[in-house]
Amino acid sequence: MDYQALARKWRPKNFAELVGQEHVVRALVNSMAQNRLHHAYLFTGTRGVGKTTVARILAKALNCRQGIVAEPCGKCEVCLAIDRGSFADLIELDAASNTQVDAMRELLDNAQYAPVAARYKIYLIDEVHMLSRSAFNAMLKTLEEPPEHVKFILATTDPQKIPVTVLSRCLQFNLKQIPSSLIVSRLSEILAMEGIVASSAALKLLAKAAKGSLRDALSLLDQAIAFSNATVDEENIRAMLGILDQNYLFALLEALAERNGAAMFAIVDQLEAMSASFDQILQDLAVLLHRLATAQIVPLILDKEQQEDNRLLDLAKCFTPDDIQLLYQIVLHGRADLDQAPDEYSGFTMTLMRMLAFIPHSQCINHVVHTDGNNTNIVSNATLALPTESGKREEEVTHNTPNEAWIALVSQLKLSGMTRMLAQYSEAKYFSANKIELCVAEMHKHLLEKSYQDKLKTQLESHFGKRVEVIFSLGSITGITPAVLQDQNRHAKQTQAIEAIESDPYVRELVDQFDAKLNISSIKPIN
Ligand SMILES: [Zn+2]
Repeated sequence: MDYQALARKWRPKNFAELVGQEHVVRALVNSMAQNRLHHAYLFTGTRGVGKTTVARILAKALNCRQGIVAEPCGKCEVCLAIDRGSFADLIELDAASNTQVDAMRELLDNAQYAPVAARYKIYLIDEVHMLSRSAFNAMLKTLEEPPEHVKFILATTDPQKIPVTVLSRCLQFNLKQIPSSLIVSRLSEILAMEGIVASSAALKLLAKAAKGSLRDALSLLDQAIAFSNATVDEENIRAMLGILDQNYLFALLEALAERNGAAMFAIVDQLEAMSASFDQILQDLAVLLHRLATAQIVPLILDKEQQEDNRLLDLAKCFTPDDIQLLYQIVLHGRADLDQAPDEYSGFTMTLMRMLAFIPHSQCINHVVHTDGNNTNIVSNATLALPTESGKREEEVTHNTPNEAWIALVSQLKLSGMTRMLAQYSEAKYFSANKIELCVAEMHKHLLEKSYQDKLKTQLESHFGKRVEVIFSLGSITGITPAVLQDQNRHAKQTQAIEAIESDPYVRELVDQFDAKLNISSIKPIN
């Protein structure tokens, strides 16, 4: 099947489709409409917010056969060729891989020649801050006296590194991070057009993990669809991203409200057994405390679901506003101190004990009702989900290949979010306690973001308790990554569950005698 990645398939082709950058679009469209063109444009903003997408739309608007228009037609041969990425007069350069002055000179030498097929010859330079100083100087010459037919469109995540002499010759636009509510609504639109069902809670989690980038959100959505057999629900997304079930956080604070230290430690044991990241849990606790404070002080700004969340409202009644402020501070400090704690477990439990020590006895009236129920629920959940037992034993087993060792290690690391995705989609080519070489397939290239690499390295070093050299590369992989293995296990369990239900005598009887039909998609394996 010819599957096209969602991020590529739904990449905006005109200004109207661009999400969350209205301020930039308005300025560009106005300047086009008034025919006030600049010869150099600079788009800045964090990764994945749409810089090169805007740049390509601008290139179409400047060269469309319909004339210089605010909205390119999208149908003429120029527009189509630019969409395909094969237009002779749009010269794209990734400065991250072409820092040599020679490449730049060669490119600019050609600037003097008239465009081949269009009005303007356009130089689109991505990550322009990576150019060497001499490459900037070569560019500056052309920028100072640009031929009539040349336009520069520059994009960067780091405008501070661009020489002022270049900056001052560009019309600058700053693209914003896209608010997650906008990402959620764009994802829902796309899913509706793709005919795929997803819960809004699941989309919120994806949008949050994508941190303001619609492109990352769509890549995650692609993986979510593959991961979850086309039912994109909250449970699947949590499993995929390694995000903790909110129930644990509620249970912790409910136990705190009851001054039940033993119950809190029981929950910590479950979290530990799940290889949850304590750093991440403290961060999530801070988010929950913020929500509790909001529920107490300005409840109207909570979204509708949260306004009707009884568990949240009940918990908010268990603490005074002062308590919540204090708890919030304790959690933030606990998180900052985590690095210096003897180990994560001590750091985390010390923070919990500090919460217990500092919160005066409050009168919590009505939370007892469901605390117990939820706790039992959590105990059973946690005992099910646990890979660690086998993971721990695996340490003693010798691994035949670097990748087997890597897969075993990943199951023990406490990773979450994009760092977890990077680990899961990496295949190990070399593995020792001093050096790990990881390879990521072209289609997961977006996971190779520097910050995710750094975070993974930090986690590996804290696991081994020493410096580890971690080398990432892009290339071909044999296909067995932790993610693939996890996926295979899930599919195998699902098939087993369906077979078990289909062969159940009672179910058979229903099917045979009453012409009943099994709703296969409702079958879920018990972990
Ligand atoms: Zn056109």
